[in-house]
Amino acid sequence: MMRHLADMQGEVLDRMPRLEAVEVAFEEAVGAVLAENVIAPESLPGFENAAMDGFAVVASDVDRPSVELEVVDDVAAGSLPTATVMSGTTARIMTGAPIPPGADAIVPVEVTEMTSEGRVRILEPATVGDHVRPVGGSVRVGSLVFEAGLRLRPPHVSVLASMGALPVVRRRPIVAMMSTGDELVPPSTKTLERGAIRDSNRTLLRGLLTELGSEVRDYGIVGDTPDSFEAALGEATDVADVVVTSGGVSMGAYDVVKLTLRERGTVDFLKIAMQPGKPLGFGTVDETPFFGLPGNPVSVFVSFEQFMRPALLAMMGAELLFRDRVPGILDDGITTNPGKDVFVRVTTDRDGDGRWHARSSGGQSSNVLSALAFADALAVVPVGVGRVEPGSTVDLEMIHWPETRTREEALGDR
Ligand code: AMP
Ligand code: MG
Repeated sequence: MMRHLADMQGEVLDRMPRLEAVEVAFEEAVGAVLAENVIAPESLPGFENAAMDGFAVVASDVDRPSVELEVVDDVAAGSLPTATVMSGTTARIMTGAPIPPGADAIVPVEVTEMTSEGRVRILEPATVGDHVRPVGGSVRVGSLVFEAGLRLRPPHVSVLASMGALPVVRRRPIVAMMSTGDELVPPSTKTLERGAIRDSNRTLLRGLLTELGSEVRDYGIVGDTPDSFEAALGEATDVADVVVTSGGVSMGAYDVVKLTLRERGTVDFLKIAMQPGKPLGFGTVDETPFFGLPGNPVSVFVSFEQFMRPALLAMMGAELLFRDRVPGILDDGITTNPGKDVFVRVTTDRDGDGRWHARSSGGQSSNVLSALAFADALAVVPVGVGRVEPGSTVDLEMIHWPETRTREEALGDR
């Protein structure tokens, strides 16, 4: 019986454990997911300070152009004012320095001129609050800054760093991987024997896992012999949070993953109504979540994207699990199996009106890895739709958001 893709994705997510919450250094937090809401332990800024280099004034003094004031202090960032700014006086001040008592506006240095030793002329009128950064202008103490489930990007971590709030995130998953198949040789192999192919799946999986922030444990090529597979699997389940294999899960006579694990009864070998990526092994081995991906490289990618990526993000505690989808026009039509969710590798661009367009990036068989490398997105042709006419709109699942503009396109002839 074929399983509907979305049903199976739901089941996978239901069965993924959440990893423990840990406090990590700021340097290690990018890409990790907050395990707790962040309530601001302090305000940002924590003190009223100058937004410009210039002069701190009493605004009511400077209600007209060309007012001369006596300079009574000089406040650098990181130092404290030593004088009160009273009517008729001013303090020179640098960006980020605390506003001296008495002052209520900053006049930028550009609109002043020194008249004589210790005196400055303010050329333009000022208003209360000009160029003053108020306490809590960025974040107010006690407010909810970020919610649990947020995957941290550099600016998020930077806000935490500003508040001295160490990130409490879920630990990164440790993922063990191995390739099955007697035909496989290491990718560094120079000359291939007839029938041999280079193992490209581990390179692909390592990249995908690392991009997500997982730690990778590589168990190499384990062939198609149950003994070597089981030996590697035993070690892998001891050290990893998740084990992933490629190959050996379909109907072949030597499909080692299926032959070995079906007996144990904790891994289901399924047919998913999707293309590529129909066969899937999913379950647990010695309590460790296990994904038996198909062998064909494109199937590995699509199965990883549809099952493992959301699953790992869920383990990491993320709220948002699935990639962005944008509507796009399929310029060339396509006929697909109406019984399956079909993922078509496409290149994308935008027309003058900002509409996305997509075209097949090459052969759509699941062994044509090159067409995956050329693709920006997977066009989704859902179950129930067998034909997409040229010019019809489909969902494009963006597998990366690439840079799209050359220097010339972005900057003209500068
Ligand atoms: P299998 O599911 O084991 O029958 O593999 C399906 C196809 O994928 C076969 O043509 C394999 O040679 C190929 N394949 C399996 N594993 C890999 C791998 N690690 N790298 C590249 N191709 C592979
Ligand atoms: Mg095989």
